[in-house]
Amino acid sequence: MTKDNFDIIIIGAGVSGLILAHEIIERTNKSVLMLEKEKKIVMNKNLCFWNYPRNILTQYAENIWDDISILINDKKISLNSDNYKYLMIKYKSLKEFFIRKLKKEKRFKILANLNVQRIENKKNKISIKIKDKTFTSNLLFDSRIDNKNKPQNKLLQHFYGVEVIFNKKVMNSKEVILMDILDIKNVFNFVYILPFSEERALIELTYFSSKVFSKNDYKSELKRYIKNKFNKLNYKIKSHEYGVIPMFKYQQPKSINHIKIGLAGNWVKQSTGYSLQNSFIYSKQLVDCIIKDKTPVIKERKSSYLLDKIFCNFLNYNPHLATLFFECFFKKNNLKTLVKFLTNTANFFEILKVIFSLPKFHIIKSIFINR
Ligand SMILES: Cc1cc2nc3c(=O)[nH]c(=O)nc-3n(C[C@H](O)[C@H](O)[C@H](O)COP(=O)(O)OP(=O)(O)OC[C@H]3O[C@@H](n4cnc5c(N)ncnc54)[C@H](O)[C@@H]3O)c2cc1C
Repeated sequence: MTKDNFDIIIIGAGVSGLILAHEIIERTNKSVLMLEKEKKIVMNKNLCFWNYPRNILTQYAENIWDDISILINDKKISLNSDNYKYLMIKYKSLKEFFIRKLKKEKRFKILANLNVQRIENKKNKISIKIKDKTFTSNLLFDSRIDNKNKPQNKLLQHFYGVEVIFNKKVMNSKEVILMDILDIKNVFNFVYILPFSEERALIELTYFSSKVFSKNDYKSELKRYIKNKFNKLNYKIKSHEYGVIPMFKYQQPKSINHIKIGLAGNWVKQSTGYSLQNSFIYSKQLVDCIIKDKTPVIKERKSSYLLDKIFCNFLNYNPHLATLFFECFFKKNNLKTLVKFLTNTANFFEILKVIFSLPKFHIIKSIFINR
């Protein structure tokens, strides 16, 4: 059996693992081993993010949308600003970008097709045995989700989308529909439309609830929506994407050198299900600690956590009021305030402004519900 020692091991060459590895390699002289389960990319998802705050991917965005709209009972509210744009990069492009850059560095090694299962952590020394090899390090960042200890009956954001090509030009390719809020019964749900051209778009059905549905349920609902919305136009389905994102926090290992990252480390913004921007912010915080020789920890902004909690509680307990909520949210705030809220960069006054723009009685109730 051979033994390989590294300063840091990262499990998972996904969004969080790659962004963190890049931050470590760029700012420290540590050696990094990355272990990845898959041989190649399983799902090429569309990763969207705002152009604020800027990150290294901003300039490589594959799509940029100027107009940000929501639809409530077919009435549109649109926001636009010269400074705030919605961007998209494909998961595959993100991975290729970082892997190409990291591989140029001798201190970085990536091994794919290795499913990490057991980890030993004795006297703060991590060792991972796979096949005939043992990898050791002092610090482990781990993006595996612990499905065994997943809490039950917690709020989830679950979605199923299809990338369609219509036989006619029907889209405004400069406008993203963040939400077309549907007939709300007991579950908050909406359709997200991401046009890539005038004929091609991702059309995605999203629900906020504690139970996911069968794939056929999403498919038939989506088919019905497309038929009604696009006047029975013919279309071809090019690909699909599916996701279930926790809107709760996973328990974290009580260890100073085994640190969960990404979805597993609660890097996802609970109200939106987005984690790309946080991956940059949190990777920087972790590397700041490494440079100062401190235990790597993330400082979550309490104000953002509170707003997310209010948002999730409100939608969970008052799905019938979601239209009112979003009408207030989009009509009474400008795009700058919304983007700052959605990227956890709002200051105290901007947070108050968002809270005061929402239906007050239900918002106050949502503050005191413990999920
Ligand atoms: C369909 C979809 C669309 C999304 N769209 C957006 C978006 O537009 N914007 C946004 O900000 N967020 C989005 N998200 C949420 C989130 O940003 C992504 O899921 C992101 O990929 C999470 O990063 P991660 O590092 O936690 O997980 P991943 O990117 O999934 O990376 C985890 C990696 O770990 C590997 N791995 C797992 N288990 C093991 C093991 N045992 N051994 C070795 N390797 C292992 C996996 O193969 C994977 O490569 C989306 C999520 C989904 C599912």
